[in-house]
Amino acid sequence: MIGGDRGDDLSRGHDDLSGVNQWQPTSSVEPAFAVEDTSASDVFGIIANETRIEILYTLWEQDEPISFSALRDELDVDKGNFNYHLSMLEGHFVDRTPDGYELRAAGTHVIRTLLAGTFTSDPVVELTEIGLPCPLCGAPIELGYENECLTVRCTECPGVIGGDVPQGAFMHHQFPPAGLSDRAGTEVLEAARVHYETALLSMLQGVCPACGGTATREVHVCDRYETTSAGRCGKCASVPGHWVEHVCGNCSFRRWCTVWLPVLFHPAVISFVYERRPFDSLLDLRRLLWLTPECLGGITQEVVAEEPLRIRVTVPFEGETVSVTVDEDLNTVAVE
Ligand SMILES: [Zn+2]
Ligand SMILES: [Zn+2]
Ligand SMILES: [Zn+2]
Repeated sequence: MIGGDRGDDLSRGHDDLSGVNQWQPTSSVEPAFAVEDTSASDVFGIIANETRIEILYTLWEQDEPISFSALRDELDVDKGNFNYHLSMLEGHFVDRTPDGYELRAAGTHVIRTLLAGTFTSDPVVELTEIGLPCPLCGAPIELGYENECLTVRCTECPGVIGGDVPQGAFMHHQFPPAGLSDRAGTEVLEAARVHYETALLSMLQGVCPACGGTATREVHVCDRYETTSAGRCGKCASVPGHWVEHVCGNCSFRRWCTVWLPVLFHPAVISFVYERRPFDSLLDLRRLLWLTPECLGGITQEVVAEEPLRIRVTVPFEGETVSVTVDEDLNTVAVE
């Protein structure tokens, strides 16, 4: 344990943050604008054409606005009706400026989505051992990919995710197909982990990483938790008895996580590990925790009070522990 009086220090510290609290988002502010629904079928109708996609892609490749004739010369496709196709894109996807044509944000999004491979590529990777130990128990792990979803599972322990996912899964989330090109095995895993955690950090701060909308979160506790031989609850099929669900109110983007995962980003945990094993960046820290099975595998999360809810997460590292207790909104209540 590190200093038992850290909880008191913490509350004093929060009082001193009155200036910072002015930055808290407030729901009483009127929205700056309402998101108007342009007809989705109109928008997709405009870009459902090879020549128009090629025009967008050609504009995306330019460093500066390009003239009508230069743009037509650059195209690799049938140039018939070029004027017509370009005019269809003008306004929503393409801007005509005094210096020439350039992409608008919507046009850039179309090209980025195509480059991510979401609409055009559907790779499948069967679950295969990748030569890394499970961060929870040290047993061999397998990585697989299907339907734009990456799965990493342990061949022995229950992992952390339950429900309708492969037994032993501790990663199971959307990852764009482009993330698999130029990478293999552990590189894919590392990239997917960064991708997942970056989105989680955004959700934790109330911002949807997919659309920028408002994200809320809720801590769930299974009140009928009972473990089966598969290591999952017989009632709700979850591996842990309590977990966190983040949801975007605009696009329903979701991020599920254990209660302990956000706690690993808590300054008390970061400094606790740093004092014992210095690291240079947040990325190094996460790799360090990942490669130290007695750390991730030894983490506990326990409900210490139900009304109001208090969950204590305890992280072991090099023979010592640090505990962070959070409330039903993941706010820190105590550090021990
Ligand atoms: Zn395992
Ligand atoms: Zn349950
Ligand atoms: Zn969203």
